[in-house]
Amino acid sequence: MQTLPTAVTHLVVGAGFAGLGMAIRLDEAGETDFLVIEKDSDVGGTWRANTYPGAACDVPSQLYSFSFAPNPDWSRSFSPQPEIHAYLRRVARESGVLDRFAFDTVLEEARYDEQAQRWVVRTNHGEVTATTLISGSGGLSEPRLPEIDGIEGFQGELFHSARWDHDVDLTGKRVAVIGTGASSIQLVPEVAKVAGHVDVYQRTAPYVIPRNDRRYTRLERLLFRHVPAVQKVYRTATYWARESYVPAFTWKPRLATPARRAALLNIARGIPDPALRERVTPDYAIGCKRILISNSYYPALARDHVDLVTDRIAKVTGDAVVTVDGVERPVDVLVVATGFHTTEQPIAERIHGRGGRSLSQVWADTGMASYKGTTTHGFPNLFQLVGANTGLGHSSMVFMIESQIAYVLDAIASMGVNRYAAIEPRRDAQDAWNRDLQRRMQRTVWSTGGCSSWYLDDHGRNTTLWPRTTYTFRSLLSRFDVDAYDVEAARSDERISS
Ligand code: NAP
Repeated sequence: MQTLPTAVTHLVVGAGFAGLGMAIRLDEAGETDFLVIEKDSDVGGTWRANTYPGAACDVPSQLYSFSFAPNPDWSRSFSPQPEIHAYLRRVARESGVLDRFAFDTVLEEARYDEQAQRWVVRTNHGEVTATTLISGSGGLSEPRLPEIDGIEGFQGELFHSARWDHDVDLTGKRVAVIGTGASSIQLVPEVAKVAGHVDVYQRTAPYVIPRNDRRYTRLERLLFRHVPAVQKVYRTATYWARESYVPAFTWKPRLATPARRAALLNIARGIPDPALRERVTPDYAIGCKRILISNSYYPALARDHVDLVTDRIAKVTGDAVVTVDGVERPVDVLVVATGFHTTEQPIAERIHGRGGRSLSQVWADTGMASYKGTTTHGFPNLFQLVGANTGLGHSSMVFMIESQIAYVLDAIASMGVNRYAAIEPRRDAQDAWNRDLQRRMQRTVWSTGGCSSWYLDDHGRNTTLWPRTTYTFRSLLSRFDVDAYDVEAARSDERISS
């Protein structure tokens, strides 16, 4: 798309699972007057951005696709990143919506015009106004760089795991990896295959359980393709198996004892040295941080040319990382696998609702808080996919996204039928929703497990995860509950829907 339209009914931000799914469903619902803006040059979101070696999904493949677009071509039970990206590209192409996508288009600022009852969105390619603004910008899209003394003066190659520089040849190099989260444990074994030496800087040991990954047989793949019901059975069985994990996170952390044993066994199997085993053994309850899966991480740490460093980093010099004990370890390539801005999303600074207040201003005191993780008081006609408290530790975000998409579509349908020009969740409804969430949060392992994690914000509140089953989330969002909303009629006689 060369030039942007000046006005659309629905403006969608982001072309990952959320934005793409939203576009397809809007189209199917006959809401064809939409525009999707995407800051990058392709669809895929996080699955386009994260191309580090070893990148793969830790949610089973069968759950990691849209319900309306099954993928019989998954090669394995846990999909590698290139397959997920290829899947999203194919779905985008075949759905016929790409003509309404503007790539390399960045949302610079969005302001709600209370008089016009429309969003005015400034992008790097011009201004667009829209009745609804639907953000699918993702919870894990903005890399968080570590604040380490001297890091900006590092003279070697430095990049974040989500911005992998494939031009840098790691063969024979001294590589330092900062962080031991989901990304790090996937990339470290791959880096160790080629690098001359690898230092892995661990601040907190993660729990890593075995990855029960396997190739699908030819017969399975034939059945997935020609007898779709078979794939549906796989998907349903995987879904309910995953739902059964919920009580261990939200209610009785002791139920996770078998998972803890599996993690300890994984360490024992992968690492012969008792001292190293001890250093990688977590000292908090399993599930408090995201449970990771890998068969190759511990064996990689046990290799002779890989060192696990647990002393805190004091500073980075032009060519080395220096720990607090004064040891200086030379580095050619510094990989920061330090995660993302999750509890203060950068897009929140750019979205301004009633009275010109931005989401980040509104959330400065309370932390992220919305209604049903989707709409926010003070921000009429704004919908956020993967919003506050919609994240998961046990199952597929695609399920959550589809639940939200259905809710947004129902809201839009209700606006069309009832000629509402603006809808906005009532303050009391939003507060009640969040009080209930935070009450439930108190007994979860994320609050009681004795760790600090990216799930919690600066106030110690968990504003990222959903503390109930995904099934419950879906039922709570199954219809647009107008009773929880303030609605405004159109000031002009324009209809909401196209
Ligand atoms: P992450 O889980 O937030 O891990 C960041 C790591 O960096 C942690 O080990 C953290 O230590 C460390 N760290 C942060 N700042 C540091 C500092 N200043 N000095 C030293 N260490 C520092 O990030 P991620 O691995 O990129 O994963 C983020 C999320 O992305 C995951 O939780 C998951 O939801 C998603 N993800 C999913 C997959 C998948 O397979 N589906 C793959 C990759 C990522 P502390 O633990 O001490 O904070």
